[in-house]
Amino acid sequence: MIHLKSAAEIDTIARAGAILAELYRQIPAQVRPGVSTAQLDRWAEEFIRGHRGAEPAFKGLYGFPATLCTSVNHEVVHGIPSTRRVLKEGDVVSVDCGVKLEGFYADAAISIPIAPVAPEVEALLERTQVALARGIEQARPGRRLGDMGSAIQAVADEAGYGVVRELVGHGVGRQPHEEPQVPNFGTAGKGLKLLEGMVLAIEPMFNLGSAGVRTLPDRWTVVTADRKVSAHFEHTVAVTADGPRILTV
Ligand code: MG
Ligand code: MG
Repeated sequence: MIHLKSAAEIDTIARAGAILAELYRQIPAQVRPGVSTAQLDRWAEEFIRGHRGAEPAFKGLYGFPATLCTSVNHEVVHGIPSTRRVLKEGDVVSVDCGVKLEGFYADAAISIPIAPVAPEVEALLERTQVALARGIEQARPGRRLGDMGSAIQAVADEAGYGVVRELVGHGVGRQPHEEPQVPNFGTAGKGLKLLEGMVLAIEPMFNLGSAGVRTLPDRWTVVTADRKVSAHFEHTVAVTADGPRILTV
């Protein structure tokens, strides 16, 4: 069932999202050679809990042990922060995080390069952000999920990237994952029609190589099957009569 949100509920999600946006403005300065993903996780948990009433949404969710998902290089999503995972020059770390505030969730992700990274990796990060923007542009009443998916997929197709199919965006609100599923692929004009009050986590995952992924024995970390780099960017977006409203800014 799809839960449509009132204007007041959307405002609450936006206040959760603003905490995430500030986290993402500050975390790139923490992402340096020699820093472990566990250090990033500790910093992020303290940052979120420093805001009255705010909680890390992922910690304990389905048994996930941390505030952040930290997925390095060929890891796509759901990487578990670790003291043993020390970042170095040339790495790309995808950080995914949720905040719960006053009963509502917001969800966002960015991929952060540690310079210098390869030019093709820079391009992958840039194009994945373009795809997210193209997807967000479709978050309007009357458009369809296929319009959104095809807008995102077109950017990957043009660049020859693999679009992860096993993992998709989702509705978000009183639950961190709600209906509908929001694929990063699709056919324009097809699929569920978007309605005012829907709040969607839109989150393209593009691979430098092929689309295939697999899950590591830790049962969380999703990696590219060909071990090529992956990028992930995500915003929580409300479908409003005035057009898309990004709530994680
Ligand atoms: Mg996320
Ligand atoms: Mg999400």
